[in-house]
Amino acid sequence: MNKEPIGAGELPVQERVRNFNEVVSGYQEKDALAEAARCLQCKNPTCISGCPVNINIKEFIAQISKKDYSGAYYTIRKTNNFPSICGRVCPAEYQCRRACVLNRNKTSFASEEAININFLERFAGDYGMRFKLPAAPAAAGSRKASGLRVAVVGSGPAGLCCAGELAREGAKVVVFESLQSCGGVLRYGIPAFRLDREILDYEINSLVKLGVELRNNIVVGRTLLLDELFKEGFDRVFLGLGAGVPSFLGIKGENACNVYSANEFLTRINLMSAYKFPAYHTPVNIGRQVVVIGGGNTALDAARSALRLQMINGIKPDVKILYRRTLAEMPSRRIEIEHARQEGVEFKFLVEPREFKPDEKGFVRGLECLLCELKEADASGRRRPVALEGSGFSVPCDLAIIAIGLGANQVLSSVTPELKTDKHKDIIINPATMETSVAGVFAGGDIVGGEGTVIEAMGMARKASSGILQNS
Ligand SMILES: Cc1cc2nc3c(=O)[nH]c(=O)nc-3n(C[C@H](O)[C@H](O)[C@H](O)COP(=O)(O)OP(=O)(O)OC[C@H]3O[C@@H](n4cnc5c(N)ncnc54)[C@H](O)[C@@H]3O)c2cc1C
Repeated sequence: MNKEPIGAGELPVQERVRNFNEVVSGYQEKDALAEAARCLQCKNPTCISGCPVNINIKEFIAQISKKDYSGAYYTIRKTNNFPSICGRVCPAEYQCRRACVLNRNKTSFASEEAININFLERFAGDYGMRFKLPAAPAAAGSRKASGLRVAVVGSGPAGLCCAGELAREGAKVVVFESLQSCGGVLRYGIPAFRLDREILDYEINSLVKLGVELRNNIVVGRTLLLDELFKEGFDRVFLGLGAGVPSFLGIKGENACNVYSANEFLTRINLMSAYKFPAYHTPVNIGRQVVVIGGGNTALDAARSALRLQMINGIKPDVKILYRRTLAEMPSRRIEIEHARQEGVEFKFLVEPREFKPDEKGFVRGLECLLCELKEADASGRRRPVALEGSGFSVPCDLAIIAIGLGANQVLSSVTPELKTDKHKDIIINPATMETSVAGVFAGGDIVGGEGTVIEAMGMARKASSGILQNS
C-alpha cells in the first residue's frame, strides 16, 4: 500500500494563468486505484459522519478498488446528486477528510495523510458523466411524491438538490431563478478554472431529464409573489435563495471608482463573460495593482481571476490579498491557497484596511491600513485581530475587491412579512423538517444557515425534501 496520498493532475502554472480553464485535471484510473487502495476500509468508518449528506464513502471507495466504477457512481448518487461538482469544490479537508482515521491533524483541517476522498468522488462522478449514466428515478411503484407539484425558488446547489430529490420521487418540480442561467454561486461565483461549466451544465441537464422544469428571469417577490405560486397550483414551495448580498467594510473612500464587491467582480466575469469583452457585452475593469480584502474562498477566487485578467491583457501581475488574521485562520480551501500562491498572488497577513484614497477624479489609488495582532478566540473560534494604532502604512492600488462575507438575500422576505427571519435576516425553519413559518413553505442552504458550503446547502435541501414528502 502507498503511504503517500496520490495527488491529482494539474495544468502547469504558466499555462493556466493565461486562461480560465480548469486547473485540476483529476485522477487517471491508475491514480484512483492507488488512492482507493490506501483506504483502510475501517469497520466503523468515521469519514461518513464528516460528510453533510452522509455519502457511503467506505462503499464507493471499495467499489473503485474493484473497478466497479458505475457502482461507485450510483453509491454516491444515492445521497449526492452532484458528485462531479462536489468532487471539485467540497472543502473536504474540513469535512470528510478531516474525519478520516488516517488524518493526524485533529485541529482545523485534514493533514496530507487523509485519503483524498474528494478526488475519488470526482473520479467516480466524471466516470458517470463520461459514460452518460442516467440519474435513475425511483421505481414506478415506490415513488413517494407522484402528483405533487413543487415550486423551487433559487437554482443554487440547495434548490437544484431539492428539485432532484423530489423529481426522483415523481414530483412535478418547477425551478424559478432570477438570473438568466441556473446554478447560483456555482455559476456566478466559483470561476470556471475550479468548476468547468460543462460539468455544471451536464448536472443541471440531468435534472431536466428527470422532468424538472427551469424558469429563468423570474424574481420571486417581484415578478411573482409567494402566494401566487400556491394560486398557480403548487402544493409546496422550497426556498433556496442563498446569501447573495455582499458585506462592505464601512470605511472612508469605499465608494471610490474601481472598488468592487467580489460578488459583482466575479458575476461580471463568470456569468457575463467580461473577460471576453468586447466579444461579450459586459466589461470589467482590470487593475495594474489589485488588492483583495478577505481570506475566504471568495477572496481567493477574486484574486486568481484578477491575476488571470492581468495576464490575458499583457499586464505584469500584481495582486495582493490583505487579510486581518494569518494563514492558519484562513477559512478557504487549502488547495486554493496553494494554487493562488503558485500563480503569484501575494498574501499580506495581519492587515486591517482603514481608508481608500481616491485621486481627484474619484478613482481609487491607494488603501491606508493598520497592522494587527491576534488576541484570544472570538465567537467564530478564530483568534481575534486587533489593529495596532500607530502602525499605519499604505498599499497602492487601482482596483480593490472586497470579499469579507455575504448576507441573506431579502428580496422575498421583505415583501412576505409572514415569513419569519432572524437577526441576520436568515429564514427561520423548524430544524426537524426545514419548514418555515409559512405552512407548506420550506427552506435550505445559505438563506437558512448563512454562508456555508455547497454540500451543506445540499444537506439541508435533502432534509427539506424529506420534510416535504412527509408533509404531503
Ligand atoms: C465566490 C464563492 C466561492 C465559493 N467557493 C466554495 C467552494 O469552493 N466550496 C464550497 O463548498 N462552497 C463554496 N462557496 C459557498 C457555496 O457556493 C454556497 O454555500 C452555496 O452556493 C449555497 O447554495 P444555495 O443554493 O443556498 O445558494 P446560491 O448558490 O447563492 O443560490 C441561490 C440562487 O437563488 C437565486 N435567487 C435568490 N433570490 C431569488 C428570488 N427571489 N427569486 C428567484 N431566484 C432567486 C439566486 O439568483 C441564486 O441563483 C463559495 C461561495 C462564493 C460566493
